[in-house]
Order: sequence, then C-alpha cells, then structure tokens
Amino acid sequence: MNTSDVLIVGGGAAGLSAALVLSRARRTVVVVDSGEPRNAPAAHMQGFLSRDGMPPSDLLDAGRAEVTGYGGTMVSGTVTELVHCGPTGFQALLDDGQRVKARKVLVTTGLHDELPAVPGLAERWAKDVLHCPYCHGWEVRDQQLGVLWHGPESVRYAQVVRQWTHDLVLFAPSDSLTPAERTQLVARAIGIVEGDLARVVVQDDRVTAIEMADGRIIPRQAVFVPPRFVPNHTLLTGVGCELDEQGWVVTGANGTTSVPGLWVAGNVANPRAQVITAAGEGSAAAIAINAALVADDVRAAVSYFNQGFPA
Ligand SMILES: Cc1cc2nc3c(=O)[nH]c(=O)nc-3n(C[C@H](O)[C@H](O)[C@H](O)COP(=O)(O)OP(=O)(O)OC[C@H]3O[C@@H](n4cnc5c(N)ncnc54)[C@H](O)[C@@H]3O)c2cc1C
Repeated sequence: MNTSDVLIVGGGAAGLSAALVLSRARRTVVVVDSGEPRNAPAAHMQGFLSRDGMPPSDLLDAGRAEVTGYGGTMVSGTVTELVHCGPTGFQALLDDGQRVKARKVLVTTGLHDELPAVPGLAERWAKDVLHCPYCHGWEVRDQQLGVLWHGPESVRYAQVVRQWTHDLVLFAPSDSLTPAERTQLVARAIGIVEGDLARVVVQDDRVTAIEMADGRIIPRQAVFVPPRFVPNHTLLTGVGCELDEQGWVVTGANGTTSVPGLWVAGNVANPRAQVITAAGEGSAAAIAINAALVADDVRAAVSYFNQGFPA
C-alpha cells in the first residue's frame, strides 16, 4: 500500500479547497468522501462571492474537477476508522475494506443539524424551514416570518432575523422569556406567541402557518429555527483529539488538533463556518500541512546528508 502525503476525509467545501491547494503544491492527495454535504437539501448556495445562487452540487462538481485536474485522487466512501501510527502517519479504514495510508490527515467531515421534534418541520427543511438568515434571509425578506424556540439563544436569534422583515413572530414556550427579553422583543415590534406548538401547517407545498396545541393558527410564510449543531467527529474522538467543554474539537492555528499530524477545517470544528469560510479554512490548513511536510522532508534530508548519503 502506497503512502500518500495527505489524506483528506470529507469532500465538501473545506476538503476540496484543501485538496486543490495541496495538489497544486505537488503533494499526493487522496480525498475520501461519503457524498452528503450539509447544504445538499438547499436548491441554491448564497453568499459565496462570485458563486452566489449556484446549486451547491455545482460548486462541488467544479471543485472535484479542479482537484483531479492537478492529480488529486477522489474516492467515494466512508472512513470508518482512523489509526495514528506515530511519526510515520496514519492509516484509514474505509467502509468497503480499503485502507489508505498517509503522512498527514485533514478531517473535514462537517456537522449535522438536529431540529426540534415539531411535526412538519423536518419535511420543510431548507425549503421554508430555515436556519441561517445570512443564507436564506434575502429570499424571504419582508415576508411573514416566524422563529421557533430552541433554547434561550432563540431571543437573540429572533432579533437577528428581524433584520429581514418587519413581520416577525417568536414562538416560545410559556414562561420562558425574561421581562428584559420581552421588552427587547416588543421594542422592535417582534410578536410573541407563547405556548406549545402542534405542527407546521403546509398547503400546496408551502408553509402557511404554525398551529399551536391550543388550536390557534398563526399565519407564517417561512420559519427560522436554530438547530442543534452536532459535529461529525467520531474519527477525531476515536484517535484521541482533545475536546472543549462544549464537546467540540480543540483547535490551534490553521486547524491543528491535539494529535500531531492531524488537522481539521470547516463545520466539523467550527459550526459558524459558511461555505466560503469552510473553503478558506481548508485552504489555510492545506498551506500549514504542506509546511509541516516540508519541515519533515528537511529533517529527513539533513539526517541522510549527515550520514554521508549511504546507499
Ligand atoms: C440547509 C442548509 C443550507 C445552507 N445554505 C448555505 C448557503 O446558502 N451559503 C453558505 O455559505 N452556507 C450555507 N450552509 C452552510 C454550509 O452547508 C456549510 O457552511 C458547509 O457545508 C461547510 O462545509 P464543510 O466542508 O465543512 O462540510 P460539508 O459541506 O458538510 O462536507 C462534509 C463532507 O464530509 C463527508 N463525510 C462526513 N463523514 C465522512 C466520513 N466518515 N468519511 C468520508 N466522508 C465523510 C460528507 O459526506 C460531506 O460530503 C447551509 C447549511 C444548511 C444546512
């Protein structure tokens, strides 16, 4: 089995961006990707300079073509286990039994979004049930919008969504708002509907309202909900990466982890990363990884040189 310079686990914006930089740096790069990027359910990708409105899959198709054009290798599959073999690098096991060996590894496996268990919500995800106003706010501007409670952060989140419409309602469980929060909401004309939710009402393939458990129907055209972000980081915990108190991988400059030779980029360690941010983190990690490989190459060359170039 050949040892590649770099294995990249995950071929979304972060992974492909890193693969492009490393392939162009004449490194042997293998990208293993299971083909489920987080924004796949969305029809369009917004806010990426010069690519605004592009279907997410088109960006990845273009990225894969660029990577393979410089000699990078794309492998479809899932890495199920990562083994740190000390200074020689890592070995990865794929779900089809293949093994990949590499000197350095970059993990860019993203995160998944957990929604509150409200009937109808998951079915409308990425259509008119939305989470990121920077990604989708413009498209629903000035509409009747709702924010569904998902913890105390929901009040601050509603204040942000207010930027895109004058007709916003925060749906909150009874007795969850403090007097100060209530004043802040009322002061910016954000409606408050309290009580338990029954379901998201959908008619003609569109959200039309939120139905409350007591039967009230509140007309809405789209709803925002802050999901719970869950990192796809079992490979990282499996290989011993340190986690912070919130359960996210501890990172240093350009995505280093507590495991030498192992980097991260994108949503797997940074839930706030947009596509352009994830791509930028991938690029920065790639440059750092190449620098680490060069340092290893220099050490090996000097050691060889000092031995008088033995045969
Ligand atoms: C509905 C929705 C819409 C969005 N719209 C926008 C938008 O308009 N603009 C914007 O900037 N951002 C948007 N985002 C955010 C965007 O999805 C992320 O910023 C971006 O996907 C992060 O890129 P990433 O490379 O870190 O992870 P991902 O794009 O999620 O890529 C991770 C990749 O790793 C693969 N993978 C995971 N585990 C393994 C494994 N064990 N082995 C091999 N492969 C694995 C996955 O299949 C996936 O292909 C949206 C998010 C959602 C949920």
